[in-house]
Amino acid sequence: MTFQNAAKHYTLDPLSDGVYAAIARDGGAAICNAGLVDLGDSTLVIDTFLTPTAAEELRTDAQRLIGRIPRRVVNTHYHNDHIWGNQVFLPEADLISTAETRVLIQTAGKEEYDDYRAITGDRLRNALDQQAAAETDAQRAAFDLWIGVFSGLARDFPRLRVTLPNLVFENRMVLYGSRRRAELVAFSGAHTGSDTVVYLPDDGVVFMSDLFFVGHHAYLGDGNPDRWLEVLRSIMDGTAGIQNASRFVPGHGPTGTLADLQRLADYIRECQQIARTLVAEGKTGQADVASTPIPEAFAGWAGPRFFYANLSSLLEEYQKTGRESGGMKPKRVSKSFRP
Ligand SMILES: [Zn+2]
Repeated sequence: MTFQNAAKHYTLDPLSDGVYAAIARDGGAAICNAGLVDLGDSTLVIDTFLTPTAAEELRTDAQRLIGRIPRRVVNTHYHNDHIWGNQVFLPEADLISTAETRVLIQTAGKEEYDDYRAITGDRLRNALDQQAAAETDAQRAAFDLWIGVFSGLARDFPRLRVTLPNLVFENRMVLYGSRRRAELVAFSGAHTGSDTVVYLPDDGVVFMSDLFFVGHHAYLGDGNPDRWLEVLRSIMDGTAGIQNASRFVPGHGPTGTLADLQRLADYIRECQQIARTLVAEGKTGQADVASTPIPEAFAGWAGPRFFYANLSSLLEEYQKTGRESGGMKPKRVSKSFRP
């Protein structure tokens, strides 16, 4: 199928008739992936990107591809790269999230907003300077993501208004349309305090948001890796009520399969194992973390700085909780960007 892909901030991956994944491009101002779903009598948007500018592109694509202004928007979790485009979909759309995600946008999300307002100018200058000084194309390309984040924010902060969901649910909500239905399924305490996936049973498609990363290091530091493994298991074995799905859209990276879900579970376990070994060997300093090689299976993944952030937060937790560890507790995010 040929497909017109003129968007600057993402590429469109058509998954089914009327179902599109918007896969973020490095250097653009989207940062996370999003979804567009034709429910028949209304159009659903899944996540709204980091910036209103990128969200406007999605709104325009909804009209171009489906012929309707979106009237339903789901925020999968509170992280800024998934919700700061919300305002673009008002006044027509209902903004939907779990009650917990709405609270997190108002609390941890407020801190995040204040942090980003303070650091964006400096971070953009640093990234541009470092990119200019880089010696290889690969080194230069590694800065594209950050330049996209901070140049997008520098441009959009004057008009950006963090916009709260107006319709909340607890565990599960079904949006019935004349063409298909979308099931919103919430999981607590895995990637963040609350994460929603959007399951399209008629299409075998699941928009997983940041419970899933493909070819990209996951960020474990704002949730609980043990719980995350349970969630992945429940999705893979059907006990979460998601059956016969074959395509899974991650929060970051290209659309994946069940095998990629398994690979992410392997990654989380591997990070935990490495951190336990470091603690057992008494190697818990920053230099120990920095000199730990990324396991070969994940060495080509994007976002390697998250590997080191993951080790640091796991080390901190394992040292605190010792051997009778009941697992990590959800905690506040760091001030730097994380998916
Ligand atoms: Zn996230």
